[in-house]
Parts: sequence; C-alpha cells; structure tokens
Amino acid sequence: MKTLGKYSIGMGDRFGHQGSAQLKAIMDAASKGIDITPVWNKSNREHSIIGTIPGDVRIEADSVTRKAEFKKPYFVDADHINLDTVEKFIESSDFFTIDVASYIGKLAGTSEIEEFLSSVTKYTGKISIPNTSLKFSTPKSLIRKVAEKYLFAAIKAWDIYRKIEKVKGNGNFITEISMDEVAHPQTPVELFFILKMLASENIPLQTIAPKFPGRFNKGVDYTGDVEKFESEFEADLLIIDYAIHEFGLPGNLKMSIHSGSDKFAIYPIIGSLIRKYDKGIHIKTAGTTWLEEIIGLAESGGEGLAFAKDIYIRSLDKIEELTAPYSDVIDINVRSLPSKTEVSKWSASEFADSLRHNPENERYNLNMRQLVHVAYKLAAEKKEEYFRLLHANEETISKCVYDNVYHRHICRIFDIG
Ligand SMILES: [Zn+2]
Repeated sequence: MKTLGKYSIGMGDRFGHQGSAQLKAIMDAASKGIDITPVWNKSNREHSIIGTIPGDVRIEADSVTRKAEFKKPYFVDADHINLDTVEKFIESSDFFTIDVASYIGKLAGTSEIEEFLSSVTKYTGKISIPNTSLKFSTPKSLIRKVAEKYLFAAIKAWDIYRKIEKVKGNGNFITEISMDEVAHPQTPVELFFILKMLASENIPLQTIAPKFPGRFNKGVDYTGDVEKFESEFEADLLIIDYAIHEFGLPGNLKMSIHSGSDKFAIYPIIGSLIRKYDKGIHIKTAGTTWLEEIIGLAESGGEGLAFAKDIYIRSLDKIEELTAPYSDVIDINVRSLPSKTEVSKWSASEFADSLRHNPENERYNLNMRQLVHVAYKLAAEKKEEYFRLLHANEETISKCVYDNVYHRHICRIFDIG
C-alpha cells in the first residue's frame, strides 16, 4: 500500500520549471535530519488557466527526481478534484485531494442520517479524549446538525474515491479529503464526526484538510487570532488521534494544512505542536513558485525586469478578471497598489523587494504580491517569451525558489536553525 511519510510538503509549480530547485530544498532538509516527502500538486483551475494537463506534472516529478537520483517516495497530487474533474487526473496522479466543499450543507437521505446517528450513540452527550484534559459536549441535537451538514459530502467523497479506485486499484494512491474552501471553519467536534462518516464509508484516508479559523490568503501571512488557531490546531491533532483508534482509520492519518504558503505567524506553532505530540503533517503550499520566478526575473534586470514590470502593469488593467477565481483567498487593498508610472521607473531591487515576502523590508507590499500571485495567466499568454527568459536567468530564479521553500517554509516549520 502506498503510504505518505510522516512529514510531507505539497509544492505547486505552475509552469513546471522549478521542480529541481524545490527538490533540492527537500534534499537539504533530509541532510539536516528532517525527512520530507515531496508532493507536486496542481489543481484543475491552474491547469485550465495555464493550458497544461495533469500528465505534465507527472513528467516533471519523474524527471527531476531521476535527475537528482532521489530514491525516496514522491507523489503527484490531483489537487481539489471532484466528481466532474477527477477523470483526467486519474492516470498520472497517485495522490488525490478529494474536494467535498461544494457538497457541504446538502442534506443526505433521512434513513442515512438516522443510521449515522444510531452508529454514534456511544459518543452522544460528551466525549473525553483519553490522557488529555480535552472534553467536548456533544448533545444529540449537535450531532444531528453535523450529520445534516456533512453526511452527504462524506457519501460523495466515497463516490469519488470509488471512481479512482476502480482504475488505480486499492492501496495504489494516497487519499486526502479537503473541506478548506468553505466559508466557515469546522470545529474539532465536527471534525470528529466527519472522520466517523468517512471511516464508515471505508475510505482509507491518509490526510484530511479542514478549514481553520482565520484567513489563509495566498502567498501572504496568516490573518486572524493566532492563539485561537493554536488551540484549535492542538484539539484537532488530538481528536484525529482519538478518531484513528475509535474508528479504525489508517494509523498514519494526519492533518493537511492548505496553507496558501507564507504563514510565518503560525508555522512555528504548527511545528512545535506536531513535535510535542509526535504527529505528522502535510503542508500544502500555493503556487508561489511563480512569484519567485517573477522576483528572479526582476532581479536579473534587463529583459527579465521589463517582463516582470509588464506583468504587473497589465495585471492592474485586468484586476477584476484575474482576482475573480480567487476572491475567497486574497484580500487586496487596491489603494495600496503602486501605480504604473511608479513601477515603470523601479530598479531591479525596488521591484524584487516589493514582491518578496520579507516583512522586515519596508518596500514589501502584500497587496502587490497577492495581485501578481493571481496574474500568472498573463505570463501563460506569452509562454514562449516567458520560458525563454526563465531559461536565460535560471540560476538567479532557482536560488529564489530554493530560498523560499527551504528558508522561509521548511526551516520555520521544522525548526532548522
Ligand atoms: Zn485547499
């Protein structure tokens, strides 16, 4: 059976050119004693905006690992697929993030709900997590609400899982269920009963991605109550552990955090809690590798800088179109965006400093960063020129990509000095 290692990182690489630099960060972490399984993820949304196919990600992952003589497991993740989109991912992927967000809130059949309720009578009233002080009140009315909200989604997850299993065969792929792209976070108690539903459907779940309180905007830091995040994350860790024992879920089931990258405020908290309880984690990052490409191009000056400026300037004209698919995961204050005239005069370092996520640099502009993050479509429209510049400035760009994965993410999460 394919199993995901204790620590794993989901890395996006929109244009498929940075796999080697990303893998180098993974291999350097291993040399410091932190074994991380690399997972290359790309969603249907990204494929359709760029014009790539899932098989392209497989080709990249296979070739960069072969080139680096990387002998450990690695995976290709069909990110956020559902019943409508899964088909074309099945052959080339061996990790499936089954997204049930759109099914949440739809009502399952009455008999299905009643059957579920009768399967959890043992947990009605109160649940206490053994060996901890955690207790949750679980009146019947609350459990019914959870069933009404999530049971239909759990049943759909089973349908999608079955569709994949039919082709790939049992045990030949990793299954993740994601519920993060919804308006309201799941509480630890909800998570507990959701895990019961998934266990009852016999889904060999290895990772689960709940939605946490706070904002996980793409490419920028966490916004929200850090202490609240910490207590919920800790409760979720313990509840997953309890659910594994109670419901017979796979022993390596772990949390997946769809971080959106760059969650510097909470990475150390996540790291210290998983070490405290000796738990695994899957950290999914967004496709901020693309931002590193633009930063690297800007730093290279000349044509590279001109290309980077052109992307930004055109993104201002198309701001509505570019941000629409991402409205739930970005917050751009339009008035804080630098103007076209201003940016056109910028030096290489002024442009790179504004875009690079270094909060200590006074030029860093999180609004500009979020806008450029969703502007990759504009580079896809000039693919030939873009790829030529990526190759011409490969050294500078690879360093940006590597630094980002290794220093800004891995070191912060896994406490590498
Ligand atoms: Zn997600």
